[in-house]
This record gives sequence, structure tokens and C-alpha cells, in this order.
Amino acid sequence: MATVNDFTPKEQPQWCPGCGNFGIMLALRNALVKVGAETHNTVVVSGVGCSGKDAHYVRTYGYEGLHGRALPLATGIKLANSRLRVIAMGGDGDGYGIGLNHFVQTCRRNIGLTYIVHDNAIYGLTTGQTSPTSMKGMKTKSTPHGVLEEPIHPLALAITSDATFVARTYTGNIPHMIEVFTQALAHKGFALVDVLQICPSWNKVNTPEWFKTRIYDLNKEGHDVADKIKAYEKALEDVHSGYERVPIGIFYKVDKPTYEDGLPQRKEKEVFEHDISAINMEKTLAKFI
Ligand code: SF4
Repeated sequence: MATVNDFTPKEQPQWCPGCGNFGIMLALRNALVKVGAETHNTVVVSGVGCSGKDAHYVRTYGYEGLHGRALPLATGIKLANSRLRVIAMGGDGDGYGIGLNHFVQTCRRNIGLTYIVHDNAIYGLTTGQTSPTSMKGMKTKSTPHGVLEEPIHPLALAITSDATFVARTYTGNIPHMIEVFTQALAHKGFALVDVLQICPSWNKVNTPEWFKTRIYDLNKEGHDVADKIKAYEKALEDVHSGYERVPIGIFYKVDKPTYEDGLPQRKEKEVFEHDISAINMEKTLAKFI
């Protein structure tokens, strides 16, 4: 059985001191051990951004793709070989901005992969521009007079897009991160974990002090994770409370068949196991031209 050390590469992460990404990486390695994952059949796919380095910092198979494209890459890998445990990672700009369409489509398809979003509400790698989750009024390099539009509400969007596991955790609470990641990894279907991530270099609003008085664990307040309407309400609670209460925990969870379960090409064997040597590619391509 693999240990945390097995999932830890020799390279040291190159993130700013105090960055929440360190905690996410630590929690993910621990959660992988808790679900009995193995290095040889786990794949981490990332987009671009500070979190894009994730694919390098977990000792599994890895793929750092284009900006916003972690989910289609992860989808392709899962459909080719569903025996693999596939984890997609990226930031809020990557997943909720540039890759937003992929996010909605992956939610509704219920592909069996785990999506961990490092949500620091800022573009960190490019030194501090407004992201889709930056709070209204927040002053950044790209909005010196304050953000004018409302932020995206990713959990509410995931719930209305029929995602089957929707959760949020916080980099200031490592045990909570490990627990939520473990449940997400154990879920059969698409699991979104939005991680409220501290970015001490560029987000000077959503600091540990800011979170300290606002965050609470909704699962300790008797929230019913099977109640979709209640989950939706909870997903919008931060904005409705004027950001005075920020819930974390498992918001919604339901069991449904996955997309790959219904794939006819997988009926007898995995897609990658099919013999394609007899296919005439010229003839096949000609049908589409
Ligand atoms: Fe972390 Fe922010 Fe530094 Fe990026 S810019 S490594 S998110 S602290």
C-alpha cells in the first residue's frame, strides 16, 4: 500500500511562502493514501497558473495542459481507461474563467473524476488581476477602482449543472481538507471540491483573519447532503449574508451512473484495449471531409 512519501516527489514546490497551495498538496497526498490509491494508476492533470504545478508535485502520472483545459484532458484519459484514478486541478481563473464551458459540461456528464479548484479569487501567477471569483468592489491590478460585476458562484453552478458531489474546504484547515478530499476521491462520478485558498502575495482581502470569523462547517449543523434545494441555498449563503457567513463542507452528494458506465465502446473492454490496427484512417477521415 502506498504511503504519503510514495506520493511525494524529490522536487520542492516553488510557491510563495505562506501560500495555501502547500496545504492542498499535503492534504491531497494524505487523502490518496486514505483511499488506498496507488502511484502507478493515478493521474493528476492540471491547467495553467500557480496551481498548474500540481501535476509535478504529486508523484503519480501527470500532465500539465493548456490554460483552462484540465477537464477535457482528464475526461479523455478517464474515457480511454476508466481503471485509472483521475484528478484534475487548477485555479479559479483556469476553471471558472477560461475553462468555464468545460466545467459545466463535465458536471452534467458525471465523468468519474475529482476536480480540485484552488480558489484564491485572484490571478496569482500573473501577479494579481481580477478573477471570476473576486468579490465585488475588490481592488486589483486590473480593477484599480474595484470589481464592478458579481462573482461566479461555482458551487451553485455545479449543483444546477447536475454535478453529483459538490464540496468546499479551506486551506486554513488541513484536517478538513483531508476529509473532504478523501470523500471526493471515494465518490463514483464527478466530484468538485472548491478550495478557499490563501494567496498572501496578491489577495489582501480574503486573508486568514477575514476567514477566521466567517467560516463554519455546515456538516456540523445538520445539513442534509441529499437535499439539492438546500444545498443550492447553502451554496449562495456567503453572498446572501453579505459575506459574513462562509460555509464549508459537503454541500451535495447523490449516486448516479457515470458517463463512462454508459459508453458502448467500454462494454467488453476499456477503450485503449481495442485493436485499431485494422482501421483505415484515410477512409474514416474522408467521411468527415
Ligand atoms: Fe500562491 Fe499566490 Fe504566490 Fe501563486 S502568487 S504561489 S497562489 S501565494
